[in-house]
Amino acid sequence: MRNAVLSRKMTLLVLQDANHAVKQIQVSKPLVIAVPLAALLSISGLIVSLQAYSGHTVASLEQELQSNNMQLQAVVTDKDEAIKRLQAQIVTLSAESKSMKDKVQKVSEMEKELQQIISKFGTGKAFSASSIPGDSSHIGGEFIAVHNVDTASRLAYDTQDDFAEMSELINAMLSRVPAMMDQAEHLHQSLSGTPSLWPTLSRSITSNFGYRSDPFTGKSAFHAGVDISGEIGDPVYSAGAGTVLQAEHSPARGNFIIIQHPNGLQTWYMHLSRISVSVNDEVTKGEVIGRLGSTGRSTGPHLHFQVLKQNKPIDPLPYLTQGQ
Ligand SMILES: [Zn+2]
Repeated sequence: MRNAVLSRKMTLLVLQDANHAVKQIQVSKPLVIAVPLAALLSISGLIVSLQAYSGHTVASLEQELQSNNMQLQAVVTDKDEAIKRLQAQIVTLSAESKSMKDKVQKVSEMEKELQQIISKFGTGKAFSASSIPGDSSHIGGEFIAVHNVDTASRLAYDTQDDFAEMSELINAMLSRVPAMMDQAEHLHQSLSGTPSLWPTLSRSITSNFGYRSDPFTGKSAFHAGVDISGEIGDPVYSAGAGTVLQAEHSPARGNFIIIQHPNGLQTWYMHLSRISVSVNDEVTKGEVIGRLGSTGRSTGPHLHFQVLKQNKPIDPLPYLTQGQ
């Protein structure tokens, strides 16, 4: 029965125009159904595949977008963390700069104290700190106005100011310290009690320590010091720091000075034309104590210089040639 229905033929009439005859085409009935069905199916298939393709494209675009978004978020997170790190570093740096500034200021105060010590014990040639360029009391530094900035930025500006201030302090100290060191060295030398400074201008020794022929009698006699020739009025310096023990006149020594040094040493200066110190005066090494002359038992202008150790005359030259 079913086969009979399917095998039935259908007649299609093809009508053109009045000049052409009508064509008759015999087709089987299943074909009439199959052709439109096939067309319908292929159109549906096209639609479905188009939908599938567009769906796939949208999905891949969404995936790409999501991936880009995640990358962007990662970058933003990195930047946030970097900013936080930098802020923390600024806070640390600021604290360190404060601590360093305190230390620099302490050193600066110590430097001022050292200057006062030098001025107090020095020979009066000490300079005052305020006379030196770059004095730390004239600290300035650029003023940086800060408006509407966050704490980290303000800290950064403050820290910059602190560093500028410290830099000025250090520069000022660096400019002063060499001169102060010279002064301190000079002071140290002037306070040294060892009688090692050559006691006058001339370096010419006319008579050595020891036995010699006496210039007045011609007889052999002990010479307890050295005779240094010179001009009347040449300065006579204290060979070391000490206290004036005697400053007077005697027929043999003429005008003479005895200075007591530490460690039981004494220096004697004879035949002076002038005495510039008094008994009990404290003298520094190199201080002018009198003037060269030819007073007392002398044949011409010279300084008789002698050194006593535990009240016994010793050769002064080993002391003087220490070169200090
Ligand atoms: Zn002599």
